[in-house]
Amino acid sequence: MFAERVLSGMRPTGSLHLGHYHGVLKNWVRLQAEYPCFFFVADWHALTTHYETPDVIEQSVWDMVVDWLAAGVDPNQSTLFIQSKVPEHAELFLLLSMGTPLGWLERVPTYKDQIEKLKEKDLQTYGFLGYPLLQAADILIYRAQFVPVGEDQVPHVEMTREVARRFNYLYGREPGFEEKALEAVKKLGSKRAKMYAELRVAYQERGDDEALEQAKALLQEAQSLSMGDRERLFGFLEGARKIILPEPQALLTSASRMPGIDGQKMSKSYGNTISIRETPEEVTRSIRTMPTDPARVRRTDPGDPARCPVWQLHAVYSSEETKQWVEKECKSAGIGCLECKQPVIDAILLEQQPMFERAQMYLDDPSLLRSIIADGSDKARKVAQETMREVREAMGLAYD
Ligand code: SF4
Repeated sequence: MFAERVLSGMRPTGSLHLGHYHGVLKNWVRLQAEYPCFFFVADWHALTTHYETPDVIEQSVWDMVVDWLAAGVDPNQSTLFIQSKVPEHAELFLLLSMGTPLGWLERVPTYKDQIEKLKEKDLQTYGFLGYPLLQAADILIYRAQFVPVGEDQVPHVEMTREVARRFNYLYGREPGFEEKALEAVKKLGSKRAKMYAELRVAYQERGDDEALEQAKALLQEAQSLSMGDRERLFGFLEGARKIILPEPQALLTSASRMPGIDGQKMSKSYGNTISIRETPEEVTRSIRTMPTDPARVRRTDPGDPARCPVWQLHAVYSSEETKQWVEKECKSAGIGCLECKQPVIDAILLEQQPMFERAQMYLDDPSLLRSIIADGSDKARKVAQETMREVREAMGLAYD
C-alpha cells in the first residue's frame, strides 16, 4: 500500500562486526536493489539505553555509516539518514503516545527481557518503556510497507500495526467521507472505476481477500489520484475510514548463524566478535587462537568437526569441497588445526577486502560522508513532513 518502501534502522552503540554484516547488512544490500529503502541511524534509540553515556554515540554514528557503506549499502540506491535529523519522528511519537495503551508497551516481550539482561543499567525509564512506540513512529512516518526484522522483532511490527489501526480508526473519520470516496472512484477512469467497485463488493460481501489485494494493487498503479483520494479509496475498500497510516508488514530475515570466535553467536556482549574493518593481522591472530575440538589435544589425535567452533565458520565461509576436506582430514588427524583454519582466514580477508576499499574513500574525505547523510536526511524529512501534514490535519491540529 502506498509506496513500496522498506524501512530499517540500527542503533549506533559501537563498531559493527561480521555478525551484523551477515545478519543485517547483506540483506540491506539485497533489498536496496529491489525496493526504495530508507536506512537510518537510530541515535535516539541509542539514548534509551545510553542516556548516561551519550558521548559514545556521535563517533559510533559515523563509524557505523562507514561500515554500512563499506558493506555495500549504496547511497545512490538507498536513502541513508540520522533519526534525530528528522525531528518529525519525535512529533509523531508524541501524538501516537496520546492514544497508546500502556499495556501494549509493557507487553512487548523484549521490554522485560532487556531490563533483565541489562541489569547494570537503570532502564525503568519513560523513554525505555516508550521505545517500541518510537519505533512505530519511525516506521509509520515513512508509511513503509516492509520492515526487515528477525524473529524477536516481529512483536514490534505487530504493535506498529495495532498503533496504525487505532490511529486510522480514531482519526480517519472524515465528514462526507462516502461522497468524497465516490467522487474519487470516478477519477480512476471508467474501466478502473468499474473494476474497483466490483472488487470492493467481492471483498465486502463475500470476504474475498484476493479481491482486496487486487483492488489495492489497482489503486497502487493508478496515477490519476491525489494522495488524499488514494487514502480514501484504500479506506473505502475495507470500511468507512481513511487510511492515513498504512500497516507495515514484517519481512522476516532468516536468523544469522554467524558464530563468534568462541563458537557462540557473534555478539559484542560475548566479546567474541570480528569487526567489519578489523585489520588482517588481528583477524589472523583471532582465528589462529580460536579454540578447537577440546578432545584434540595433540596433532596426532583425531578430531570431530561437530565439536569444533572453527567448523561453524567453515559452514559460513567454505565451499563443499573444503568442508569435505576438513571432515576427512580432521577425523583422520591428516591436518593440523592451523592448517584447517587457514581457508577460513583467507575467506574472511577476501570478504573484507572490498569493504576496506570502499571505507577508505570516506575515511580519506569525511565530507563525503557528511553530505550523504545531509542529502538522505533532507530526502527523508520531506517524506516525513508530508505524512505529518496529514496527521496534524486528521487530528485537528492544522491551524493554517
Ligand atoms: S582440524 Fe579443524 S575442525 Fe578439526 S578440530 Fe582442528 S580446527 Fe577443528
